[in-house]
Amino acid sequence: MRQGHALVLFSGGQDSTVCLAWALQRFARVETMGFDYGQRHHVELQARQEVLAALRAGFPQWQDRLGDDHMVDLTVLGQISDTALTRDTAIAVDAAGLPNTFVPGRNLLFFQMAAAVGYRRGLHTLVGGMCETDFSGYPDCRDDTLKALQVALSLGMGQRFTIETPLMWLDKAQTWALAQQLGGDALVDLSVRLTHTCYLGERGHLHAWGHGCGECPACALRRQGYERWMAGSGAALPDA
Ligand code: ZN
Repeated sequence: MRQGHALVLFSGGQDSTVCLAWALQRFARVETMGFDYGQRHHVELQARQEVLAALRAGFPQWQDRLGDDHMVDLTVLGQISDTALTRDTAIAVDAAGLPNTFVPGRNLLFFQMAAAVGYRRGLHTLVGGMCETDFSGYPDCRDDTLKALQVALSLGMGQRFTIETPLMWLDKAQTWALAQQLGGDALVDLSVRLTHTCYLGERGHLHAWGHGCGECPACALRRQGYERWMAGSGAALPDA
């Protein structure tokens, strides 16, 4: 196990839950950070509390490493952007193929806030669940964006920050496989039952792949990934 401390951007979604488990496996101490940016659905913020509680209760190997949770109010983001995640607007795709669930600058701002908290807390590894394998095309999820941001943050803070994105080159089937590898069936089960992905904020019925409407872009990715993983195709993890 690596020494050192990490700060994980943790939304209560499937991806950031797997990232949190990944960090707990590697770092001596892990803190989490979440943002209230005026999400249309507060169900996401509830899910993150439930996931944190379940991780503390059900995974004794990680208990001592899981430290403080930092919630930051970024409702200003909802005030300055006009997207389907922060307003009651139907989900649609623009001419460039980008869904209107894109909140411009969101991940840039998240990492900037994380670096500021990391600076204060001595956490110089920042972990995020961004991925450009199966993704909605958000430009701030791209590897190049985050590498550039890592350089900018290190220069601007006067301290070396590392941005880790363990899911960057995994597809959604492989993300389920990674959950299984890190925390076994218990982590898969926790992810299915407690994590929240649906853009419409739907919980309702529990499908095999989790709660959600099953049709919005986020549910579709999650459902298809789970089905591919279950079917056993394309779910092998690349060598670490
Ligand atoms: Zn959905």
